[in-house]
Amino acid sequence: MPPPVLRFAPSPNGYLHLGHAYSALLNFDLAARTGGRFLLRIEDIDATRCKPQFEEAIYQDLAWLGIAWETPVRRQSEHLADYRDAFETLLAQGLVYPGFESRAEIARLVAQREAVAPWPRDPDGAPHYPGTARSLSHQERARLLQSGVPYALRLDVTAAGARAGDLTWTEHGEGPDGETGTVTARPGAWGDVILARKEMPTSYHLAVAIDDALQDVTEVVRGQDLFWSTSVHRLLQALLGLPRPAYRHHRLIVDDTGRKLSKSSKATGLRELRAAGATAADIRRLVGLP
Ligand code: GLU
Repeated sequence: MPPPVLRFAPSPNGYLHLGHAYSALLNFDLAARTGGRFLLRIEDIDATRCKPQFEEAIYQDLAWLGIAWETPVRRQSEHLADYRDAFETLLAQGLVYPGFESRAEIARLVAQREAVAPWPRDPDGAPHYPGTARSLSHQERARLLQSGVPYALRLDVTAAGARAGDLTWTEHGEGPDGETGTVTARPGAWGDVILARKEMPTSYHLAVAIDDALQDVTEVVRGQDLFWSTSVHRLLQALLGLPRPAYRHHRLIVDDTGRKLSKSSKATGLRELRAAGATAADIRRLVGLP
């Protein structure tokens, strides 16, 4: 049996907080306990929000927590060709189409639809894609593509779900409503998710599915806020013939008011806590780890 492979996959778009410490330590401890490998992955495909100083701070904060990771670290921005290849596979399966509406147009279309009847929202609360780009004529699509306007490349989730059939995943942790064991994937709950954009050959969903496979990750340990995203990841794994890791979604660390921590909150930032004299052992205690 190859050893278990775990990973912590932060985005360098802010400084790490207690919630990240909890997730990273859970992964690290689990790897240590099971004789597994621990990988660090930098999810930096969003060039406008990711900054070198945040990436540097991730390395410093994790080392301060006593976490050691294998090198080289996989930085998503260095592997765009892998995502492009996977995307091409989905395109060849006829499961992707370009949508040309701007964010403002999408908001207007949703408002129009909601004026008539409730419009579905995804598990994060965002409205499903309301546009009609899937049924554009071949000529109109070609014309728009040539015109140079921006576009988002969306997964036709109905067609993709029909092709993949029923999907489940093995959950070792639990979902927001206590889901555990064998969980049925519900990718349709997301609508036609964005998989890539004109200028970027991937999105979070596509990159995470590819990387977990390329890095041989056997158990994905991450926050409950990503629980239902697993539906999309399972669908992409099935369409692309990728192995299926097990999942362990963990509770979220919340602030005094019960809200999920944000990267901008100073009270729970690892740098601030360190500057105030906290030790790595204090951080473990604060997040309820031995
Ligand atoms: N990069 C994601 C985040 O920082 C985590 C991705 C994952 O663990 O699948 O929220």
